[in-house]
Amino acid sequence: MFSDNQDRLQKTIRTTSAGLLLNVILSGGKIAGGIIGYSHALVADGVHSLADCFTDVAILVGAHFWTKPSDENHPHGHARIETMVSGFVGLVMILTGLLIAWKSFGSIMKPAANPPGWIAFAIAIISIASKEILARWTLGMSKKLKSPALAANAWHQRSDVLSSIPVAVVVLAARIEPALIFLDGIGGAIVSLFILKLGIDILRPVLWQLSDSAAPPEIRDELKRIALSVNGVLDVHNLRTRFHGDGIQTDMHIVVDPDLPMKKAFSILKSVEKALYQLGPGVTDVLVRLEPQETKYPVSEP
Ligand SMILES: [Zn+2]
Ligand SMILES: [Zn+2]
Repeated sequence: MFSDNQDRLQKTIRTTSAGLLLNVILSGGKIAGGIIGYSHALVADGVHSLADCFTDVAILVGAHFWTKPSDENHPHGHARIETMVSGFVGLVMILTGLLIAWKSFGSIMKPAANPPGWIAFAIAIISIASKEILARWTLGMSKKLKSPALAANAWHQRSDVLSSIPVAVVVLAARIEPALIFLDGIGGAIVSLFILKLGIDILRPVLWQLSDSAAPPEIRDELKRIALSVNGVLDVHNLRTRFHGDGIQTDMHIVVDPDLPMKKAFSILKSVEKALYQLGPGVTDVLVRLEPQETKYPVSEP
């Protein structure tokens, strides 16, 4: 378990560090290139990359905490820290999106005097190509590690690619036809929409998980089916599920024959827990309560 966590940590750090390095280069290049090349859209994209640097740092710092095994103070493990960091990333994205939308609106109202330069176009193209390569790599890694924070980062990188495409298009258009210079501000506004959507998409599952929402009905049915399939289990009820990072915590009551010896009944309980750990989709934590069948000795439910 510990070495598994260490491996996860190493891979998360490697993937995120590569992203951070590229974001530092891109944010500097875009903001400088946007100022030299008179493109508001490219500067907006650069501010986006700058916000990306902060979220990469948040993941790098957070990963050290959420991959730690459970301890006295966090008996359920530290997976919720990953959810919290994802929430922070989502919030930063929403705020950045609002800021860029506001700035772009100003630029549409009052376009720049000069058309954007070729340098702005070149930087946008370099950004698109390098981010696409990075996004594919991060997405592959997130699937291997089943890490929602890394997956969120990968989808983010993919949307960075999509949000730089309109920048390249509007800069090219304004370059070819100076009358289209107002398009540059619209390019910035499109960038802001991408960032807002991304922030909302990241934040939604975070709020869902932090509010202790149950796993989808298919998964609950599957867990019940697994418990019932164990020999000696007569009924399953009070099944509860909730998310803990990318894992599912579940607890339930199982009903057994009341005349079974304690030792036998307990071994049925252990079999149920083992089956849930091994076969339950995404199950990382199981607690099962044993109950005698009520027809013989009625038990009152709390
Ligand atoms: Zn981004
Ligand atoms: Zn019960």
